[in-house]
Amino acid sequence: MDGPAFIQVILPLRLEWDPCYRLPEGMRAEVGSRVRVQFAHKEYVGTVSALDVTPETAVERIQPVLSVEEGLPSVLPEEIRFWKAVADYYLCSVGEVYKAAYPALKREQEAVQAREQERLESRMEVLRAKMDKARRDDTRERYADALRVLEERLQAQDVLSLGKDVELTPAQEAAAKAIRDAFSRGKTALLEGVTGSGKTEIYLKLARETLLGGKSVLYLVPEIALSRQLEQRIAAVFPDVQVFHSGVSATRRRTVATRVRSGGPYLVLGTRSALFLPHHGLGLIIVDEEHDTSYKQESPAPRYNGRDTAIMLSVIQGAHVLLGSATPSLESLYNTGIGRYEKVDLSERFHHGEEAAVQVIDTVAERRKRGMEGDLSRKLLHEIRSTLDAGEQVLVLRARRSYAPTLQCTECGQIPKCPHCHIPLSWHRNPDRLICHYCGHTEPYTGTCPSCGGALQPIGAGTQRIEEELRSFFPERTIARLDSDTPDGEEAGIIRRFAAGEIDILVGTQIITKGFDFDRLSLVAVIQADSLMGQQDFRADERAFQLLQQFRGRSGRRGKGGKFIIQTREPGHPVYARLQGGEADLLSERRLFGYPPYTRLVHVILRDPNEKRLDFLSRELRNAILAAFLDADTPPSVVGPYAPVVDRVGDESVRQVRVTFPRNKSLPELKKRLAKALGDFGKERKYTAHISIDVDPA
Ligand code: ADP
Ligand code: ZN
Repeated sequence: MDGPAFIQVILPLRLEWDPCYRLPEGMRAEVGSRVRVQFAHKEYVGTVSALDVTPETAVERIQPVLSVEEGLPSVLPEEIRFWKAVADYYLCSVGEVYKAAYPALKREQEAVQAREQERLESRMEVLRAKMDKARRDDTRERYADALRVLEERLQAQDVLSLGKDVELTPAQEAAAKAIRDAFSRGKTALLEGVTGSGKTEIYLKLARETLLGGKSVLYLVPEIALSRQLEQRIAAVFPDVQVFHSGVSATRRRTVATRVRSGGPYLVLGTRSALFLPHHGLGLIIVDEEHDTSYKQESPAPRYNGRDTAIMLSVIQGAHVLLGSATPSLESLYNTGIGRYEKVDLSERFHHGEEAAVQVIDTVAERRKRGMEGDLSRKLLHEIRSTLDAGEQVLVLRARRSYAPTLQCTECGQIPKCPHCHIPLSWHRNPDRLICHYCGHTEPYTGTCPSCGGALQPIGAGTQRIEEELRSFFPERTIARLDSDTPDGEEAGIIRRFAAGEIDILVGTQIITKGFDFDRLSLVAVIQADSLMGQQDFRADERAFQLLQQFRGRSGRRGKGGKFIIQTREPGHPVYARLQGGEADLLSERRLFGYPPYTRLVHVILRDPNEKRLDFLSRELRNAILAAFLDADTPPSVVGPYAPVVDRVGDESVRQVRVTFPRNKSLPELKKRLAKALGDFGKERKYTAHISIDVDPA
């Protein structure tokens, strides 16, 4: 029998199922076709996920498809499979992933692009017809020429043009070989190589080989590391590199998507969002700086980690994955330990310099001995002076921007806080103002306490203050500062001037720890390194280590030994021991306390402007979660609800419930059970919009 055809459609919404639509007679669609439909009285463009389905609801209530969007390129089946894998893992809807992959804006522009392609194709059609009819040879020639031009335009992108090859050193070649071997065994490779060892060269070599083999390459970097420098290095080996990240114009991103869709081996250099391009024929995914936390998307859903999602994509694409870092994440080291990844070491620096020597200065002891001048120790000042006298440069890291991170009233002891986030406001100067570093709220600075009128006293020193102190000691030197208060347009100029040796001392926040090579930089120093080590977060130490190690790598490039000075109140901290070659076993600590990667963490986050309702419902939700696992063999541990460090966002209060799953075979099933419990709770209490889920929170 030939009844009406029903199809399922993925909509860019948080739905647990793909709704069903009727395909009107004469309308044709395939899996992946983009269709316009109505849902809850609104129109959406969705993607067909299944054909010929048997509807579960009454047939007469099923709405018709309004139109098939012929102008939009179809979604590939492997894209849909990838979205499903991501949604499954991160406990979100396929629609939310679809929305991330095809934002509404992009959809309209895509239509324009597709139409252009269509226009080209239909013009070629006309030309071909005319050519067939042409009687005279020269007329036919003319049409043929015109056709060739159009064909070239269509295919221009398919041509593989390679630049120069990469020459590896013997140590690099050995590492490359070990990586190829791991690939041939079907393993993901984790390349651990100190800064300057030439990891990038190895990526380029393997990328080139992959492209020559007719497969495509996705080269991922953390948001902040996407420098022009890297783009140019890649372009030298592969001129047609496609750059894709949130800072690239929408037009350009559309071109990249079209290029990727149009086939032929391609190389995309991008940030995590490049995972959602219409990939096909991928042979290699490179994840550089795989430990970097900016691979994690905080909001909105899917709250995915680019590194882990790259692994999911590789499974669908049959691609190899190469993770690289100077300081691999504990997650990846764990995966190496259980044999899922293979670690490849590259310990030799290309320019053969030693790593910068570490010196830890105890500021508490120094203050007692009168060895401190404000926030700087005499020892550090001495080192800075001799470095500058030798014609070299200094980089100073202070992890907090502002003049003073906190103010306190000398009369009543009150600390001015953000009215939205309840965290201390920082004092910034030139111009004077108080700023919340979390939400950006600002107020004028008056110097007096808002409640009692007493004088406000700064507590601690931010980058501005450190810069000021350095100026007072080195008035004849050129000193600059780089942090997120630096106007956007000036950043590049400061880096260029520092590289050219026009700046002697550069003070800054984390921005200065990444990515740049400076020939004359031989001393890097951290002021108040303690602020990098949090107590709240079990990952803080690991991150501090990664940041410090990366910062250290800035010092003494090109074969010269550099210095690395750390000022701290807690010189015995294990992170410093590890920097000095000690084996601080962070993994066994994680195991002992039941933290990831030995367990899987899921945060359930609740937000509500009504705090009473929030407190009540988050307690109820906790109970619902516990109830869902009553009969489980290995139930998760449930902590909370509690207020996270930042317990207000905008005008909403925040509560969190932490669910820690044992890592075993039933994990996927238990995670699904959690998602179902949350979904049911949201529906019953009409509270869905207030609840979000974060799997593997950063
Ligand atoms: P990493 O990515 O490990 O920090 P890079 O690939 O950036 O290291 O290499 C550090 C420096 O050494 C760069 O300036 C790079 O051009 C140079 N270099 C490394 N390996 C080679 C090589 N095989 N041939 C030429 N230059 C190299
Ligand atoms: Zn705030």
